[in-house]
Amino acid sequence: MKNIYADHAASAPVHHEAAKAMMEAMENNIGNPSSIHHYGRKARMQLDQARQQLADSIGAAVDEIILTSGGTEADNLALVGYAKAHKDQGSHIITTQIEHHAVLHTCERLENQGFDVTYIPVNQYGQVSLEAVQEAITDKTILVSVMHGNNEVGTIQPIEEIADIAQANNVAFHTDAVQSYGLMPIDMKQTPVTLMSVSSHKINGPKGIGFLYAKKGTKLMPFLTGGEQEKKRRAGTENVAAAAGFAKAVEMAVEQREERAGFYQQLSDYFLKCLESEGVRFELNGAKEERLPHITNIFIPNISLESFLVQLDLAGIAASSGSACTAGSVEPSHVLSAMFNDPNRSASSLRFSFGQGNSFEEVEQIAKEIRTIVHRMNSG
Ligand SMILES: *Cc1c(COP(=O)(O)O)cnc(C)c1O
Repeated sequence: MKNIYADHAASAPVHHEAAKAMMEAMENNIGNPSSIHHYGRKARMQLDQARQQLADSIGAAVDEIILTSGGTEADNLALVGYAKAHKDQGSHIITTQIEHHAVLHTCERLENQGFDVTYIPVNQYGQVSLEAVQEAITDKTILVSVMHGNNEVGTIQPIEEIADIAQANNVAFHTDAVQSYGLMPIDMKQTPVTLMSVSSHKINGPKGIGFLYAKKGTKLMPFLTGGEQEKKRRAGTENVAAAAGFAKAVEMAVEQREERAGFYQQLSDYFLKCLESEGVRFELNGAKEERLPHITNIFIPNISLESFLVQLDLAGIAASSGSACTAGSVEPSHVLSAMFNDPNRSASSLRFSFGQGNSFEEVEQIAKEIRTIVHRMNSG
């Protein structure tokens, strides 16, 4: 039996070329990028080159890229760093009910520290309305944070329009673009984004690195103080090897963007077709069209989620209950709860996310296995 990995939205396998770039960087660049000697200068050059590639991928300048330990830290720095640096200008933040926990739990922390947060609801497809964003803005609002592509159901938000609304109201705009980055182009010269979070391991780079884009002149209160790395916005010796691996993964993602997005979309479409031809009763969660190409979240009535995932795992298939962070716990998905006023919906919904290395045969096999498990459950 061949194992099938259909959980790329939780973490995508490191591409061999990215791993190789990391290994080479580790072995060839032994210095600290802040050191003055030639070992240091060589490490600095490698880091600068990586940062340039990251910046180019979104039409940003190199000093607008703050390297972080991943998407979570980027979200934290965006929200807390911006809120604390601008608390004289207002104490109100706007976000949505379907953000990643790295945003939601950080907003809850800010609420405990005296900030007011509005959590905008979504419709049954997981879409935020522009009117709701506009109406939520008050003269105390300093920041709007709306994710680009949702990690559980894949729904894409109209962030270009939301960025325009924020700009027209003189409010900063942050977007968590961890899932869309590399698949959907975004150009900072076109879209008035103030802050944007990205993570390496969701696009076949190493885990433990990401970046926060911060538009030139954006003040942030840093978490980490110490040396002057990242222009004093994040102290600590830079992870040169991870940056090199991340940059390699980005380079490939940018080169193959359309090809990858098209392939993932075909896999997702074929998956739904296979489920239908297997006679599985299901409903799609999330928007049909405005959805990330690699994420398919389905509701299968009357199944027990945990047992279903275990049975898939026994068959060698790795899928997820929605977000990796809620795996292993029975907590209902906050995203599906925001979309549907129905606890059964999140108790019986699963996420499949495709990526590099998946094939149409694998997708067929997953659909067959789902049918088998549904039959077994319904006859048991
Ligand atoms: C994975 C993910 C994060 C967290 O990124 P890490 O690098 O794992 O910390 C944040 N937001 C979204 C939408 C994600 O999918």
